[in-house]
Amino acid sequence: MGDPPGQDEILKKAGEILKSGGLVAFPTETVYGLGGDAFNPASSKRIYAAKGRPSDNPLIVHICRLSDLEKTAAFIPKEAYELAEAFWPGPLTMILQKDPLLPSETTGGLQTVAVRFPSHPLAQALIDAAGGFVAAPSANTSGRPSPTVGKYVYEDLSGRIDMLIDDGQVGLGLESTIVDLTEEVPMILRPGFITEAMLRKVLPDICLDPALLAKAVTADLDPQAIKASDTADGSLGDNPDADHTGPKAPGMKYKHYAPQGEVIIFEGDEKKVSERLLFELQKDRKKGIRSGVILSDQMLDRLKGQEEEIPADSVKCLGSSDDTEAMAHMLFRFLREFDDEKIERIYVRAVAQEGLGLAVMNRLKKAAGGRIIAL
Ligand code: AMP
Ligand code: MG
Repeated sequence: MGDPPGQDEILKKAGEILKSGGLVAFPTETVYGLGGDAFNPASSKRIYAAKGRPSDNPLIVHICRLSDLEKTAAFIPKEAYELAEAFWPGPLTMILQKDPLLPSETTGGLQTVAVRFPSHPLAQALIDAAGGFVAAPSANTSGRPSPTVGKYVYEDLSGRIDMLIDDGQVGLGLESTIVDLTEEVPMILRPGFITEAMLRKVLPDICLDPALLAKAVTADLDPQAIKASDTADGSLGDNPDADHTGPKAPGMKYKHYAPQGEVIIFEGDEKKVSERLLFELQKDRKKGIRSGVILSDQMLDRLKGQEEEIPADSVKCLGSSDDTEAMAHMLFRFLREFDDEKIERIYVRAVAQEGLGLAVMNRLKKAAGGRIIAL
């Protein structure tokens, strides 16, 4: 047996696969991406098929040079260069008017395009090897939590793609922030690591898509109540309490990030949440329901103070409770691990919806079908 292929060889092979219409999953600083040549409509169609993704949900075009932005977009406002100067390469996606040469298969039939310049060195090298333009959504089966570890890409897409570049756990763990620059006022369509406050320093007028601020449905665990409040696609925009405009990023309207188990979010102070948690966990244990819980160190201490053993089948610890970054980093991985462990109910405490907490709660609420139980 010869030596295993070196990185240069892997990248060369991956570049050849992409240039000839194949698909390569690769790490980025946010989550793993499922890449195809952005200018090849057949590649984009293969991406939708591999993921089981609705074809009206556009892909993000990844570039590795700022100068290539001009080849993806028909018109680039000065705000785009200002954002690029501040946050590229990095976890920010911009929506612009698409270049006419970019296939509509890549943009889900829209006249606009989503573009990102990732900071991950391997991602940059891969995009370069592929000719400069890689269309890539997250490398998961549509609807499942985005993969932050190579093994979950393999689990979802093995046999459907031509190559996986596995680089272990990614750095950030949540998908990029998406900013729309095609309307009069720049708008955040998906929250992420680049927060509203960071963006506001560059674009003082920036606003949030109202669909992101829609009040979550509050229900209790009574099965009737859950049924009644469940929306057809898990979208917050379908909440009768919410503003009637749906989210502008097509992907934000689908039920998303969902593990097989039911996610239940409790909102309230540590004391109330820990009491309720113990009550639910004990109830689940009696009924033979496999339950799991995501906890901060503080919550863990509180529960340990009340019980000799926490009555959960799986306990995942996040570290300090104000460490929203740890939650962002580990959330998708934990949701996947709960699936591996066949956990049927997953309990988690809400974080404050500010800064990075807005992005974490956005993903959590979608995983929970929009329900939060206020205590
Ligand atoms: P993913 O890469 O899996 O995180 O999905 C890409 C996200 O970008 C989805 O939520 C899409 O709906 C969104 N997106 C891509 N292109 C556009 C566009 N032209 N306008 C609005 N949202 C977009
Ligand atoms: Mg995705």
